Amino acid sequence: MGKGSANECMVFPFCEGEETQSDRKVLTCSGSSCDVRVHPECYGLDEYAGKFSCDSCKYASGEKVTCVMCPSLSGAFKKTVGGKYIHVVCALWTKCEFGDIELLSGISITNVFPAASKEEKAQI
Ligand SMILES: [Zn+2]
Ligand SMILES: [Zn+2]
Ligand SMILES: [Zn+2]
Repeated sequence: MGKGSANECMVFPFCEGEETQSDRKVLTCSGSSCDVRVHPECYGLDEYAGKFSCDSCKYASGEKVTCVMCPSLSGAFKKTVGGKYIHVVCALWTKCEFGDIELLSGISITNVFPAASKEEKAQI
C-alpha cells in the first residue's frame, strides 16, 4: 500500500507499518468533510478511542486551517495554546514545547515565534 491508501497515516510522511503491524489501526476523522487518518499513537490519542475528531474539526468546525510552519493544507493538525494550528510533524520538527507530550497537546510555538507569546498569554 503506497500513497493514498485508506490505511495511510497522515501524521508522519513516512509513517508506514500498517502492513507489517496489522494491529496498528488507522482511525479516520469523524468530521463530515474531513478525511484525516491517523494512528492513535501518532496523534496522541487513547489507543482505544473508537471515534476521533482532528483538532481542526473539533475547534474550527471543519474549516480549512493553515499550519503556522508550512503551506500544506492537508495532514493532521493540532491546535496550539495560542489558538493557531500546526501539523504534528511540524511541531516536532521545530521543537515546539508540548504541554502534554503523551497527548501531543498544549503546543506552544513561542520558542519559534517569540511574538506569539502575547497571544498565548491572552488565551490562558
Ligand atoms: Zn502513524
Ligand atoms: Zn477532521
Ligand atoms: Zn505544517
